[in-house]
Amino acid sequence: MTSRILGRGAAALPAAVRGEGCYIVDEAGRRYLDGSGGAAVSCLGHSDPDVRAAIHDQLDRIAFAHTGFFTSKAAEELADRLVANAPEGIGKVYLLSGGSEAVEAAIKLARQYYLEIGQPERRHLIARRQSYHGNTLGALAAGGNAWRREKYQPLLVETHHVAPCFEYHFREEGESAFDYGQRVANELETEIERLGAETVMAFIAEPVVGATAGAVPAVDGYFRRIREICDRHGVLLILDEVMCGMGRTGTLFACEQDGIAPDIVTFAKGLGAGYAPIGAMLCSDEIYGAIASGSGSFQHGHTYHGHPLAAAAGKAVLDAILDRDLLHRVRARGEALEAALNAAFGQHPHVGDIRGRGLFRGIELVEDRATKTSFDPARKLHAKIKAAAMAEGLICYPAGGTVDGRRGDHVLLAPPFIITEDQIGELVGKLGRAIDTALA
Ligand code: PMP
Repeated sequence: MTSRILGRGAAALPAAVRGEGCYIVDEAGRRYLDGSGGAAVSCLGHSDPDVRAAIHDQLDRIAFAHTGFFTSKAAEELADRLVANAPEGIGKVYLLSGGSEAVEAAIKLARQYYLEIGQPERRHLIARRQSYHGNTLGALAAGGNAWRREKYQPLLVETHHVAPCFEYHFREEGESAFDYGQRVANELETEIERLGAETVMAFIAEPVVGATAGAVPAVDGYFRRIREICDRHGVLLILDEVMCGMGRTGTLFACEQDGIAPDIVTFAKGLGAGYAPIGAMLCSDEIYGAIASGSGSFQHGHTYHGHPLAAAAGKAVLDAILDRDLLHRVRARGEALEAALNAAFGQHPHVGDIRGRGLFRGIELVEDRATKTSFDPARKLHAKIKAAAMAEGLICYPAGGTVDGRRGDHVLLAPPFIITEDQIGELVGKLGRAIDTALA
């Protein structure tokens, strides 16, 4: 059937009709194990009774009241609980409808902050090569994927890109992991000095890089160095936790494991957990204070921001993560997944790296395990793995990308936090068969 949905193309996709825990069932009754939570979205599985009840309950009371006139108990409670569990200094929450909107708001807030404190010339944003921060024009401008940006030039935000912290690809021989992290972090300082610190407003990065690299955490010390550099030059640190946040890596905020606090942080996917479109931008009291004592309001707003149904879903998801001790479970199941991946692929001739944190894992595929030579992109390996996995009844998130001439074909795994040990076995077994089929 030809789809009338723009962007769908000719490929016929199965229609999802039902969710059962970690499985999605299509109209033909086929079951798919959700090994990637879609794209790190479905952290509670597809039929969570508490989230469904919270949405029903909100719907029975009121679905919508414009935020220009009303707040809602759900939105206020969600904001309170996010702040109560946020890194030091974070004191305000802005609710949006998704990740791109949250990044967009973060960029605008950084810009407005510097206007309010009388430094209007601070307008440059620095991000990292091969980064993804969303698809709206501002978020797209932040992202470091040249091919995504090129059709839409000139973009609205002047962004400059520095090296990502991909140890596996770029650590030099004989260099310690720590020294490598310091070296690439120092690229930020070089770039700030090149542009002139008085023109730079913010640096944006994902603590654990998701879709574009396949669950790559930064090496120890990298983000502490980044924080120091930002502080020294008065540059705001925006952490994009749209994918890696909300407990996915084993702590509510991924950056907790890097020992730093951001000035602004974004959440989305896992916050709605697939039950509602919701994103959040959180900022420090200092930023908000400057705006409150300046012009008085953040020049932003969307009709559906803070939507009560979405806020009720987000609040129920956050409650589930914290009250059901799911962070502990993410860490334990994450270790089980890591062990299963190592057992299945540790010696695989085409697996070059297995990495990640919590239930956010990636495996990298290489032509040659010894030399780590990449596959020719013309093989379209990721598309083949995706199709083979679907045929096996597995949803995973393969992708490929090139940074500084080095290609990385990888598969991202981000299963629901409720995944069982048996389902981890099923996931890894199906993935192995899918990879072998794609490589054949
Ligand atoms: N930031 C990151 C790190 C993401 O992974 C994504 C989505 N893949 C976004 C922003 C954009 O989020 P959304 O698709 O909800 O707009």
